[in-house]
Amino acid sequence: MSGCIFCRILNKELPSTVVYEDENVMAIKDIKPQAPVHVIIFPRKHFTGMMDFDLQDKALSIALINAIQKVAEVTGIAEGGFRVINNWGKNGGQTVPHLHYHVLGGADLGEKIV
Ligand code: 5GP
Ligand code: ZN
Repeated sequence: MSGCIFCRILNKELPSTVVYEDENVMAIKDIKPQAPVHVIIFPRKHFTGMMDFDLQDKALSIALINAIQKVAEVTGIAEGGFRVINNWGKNGGQTVPHLHYHVLGGADLGEKIV
């Protein structure tokens, strides 16, 4: 989608630090990290967010979970533990309207999620 930051990153119109990618998804370092490891995972296909994701797309559902595991492995946070966050809409604090998961780790994030 033209104008979408993550679509522009996917099209290499904007730079990013790629952590993992395959034919379905891309994972990049967050530009404003909230933890020692902060990676954003998003599908190559544009969805505004969680609520318009196509559940019929089983392959993509699996690819997103697979990418979370791969990111945890390559960044070395699998063993220590990590947190996965998705923000949807205004109250969720979503700022980029292209479905994405945050993967945060590399430190004890505590029990609070916000
Ligand atoms: P949201 O608030 O929508 O859940 O998360 C959007 C995330 O994208 C934020 O953590 C923000 O720092 C990150 N972000 C926004 N623009 C860019 C960018 O151009 N490059 C990268 N790598 N991350 C970005
Ligand atoms: Zn997009």
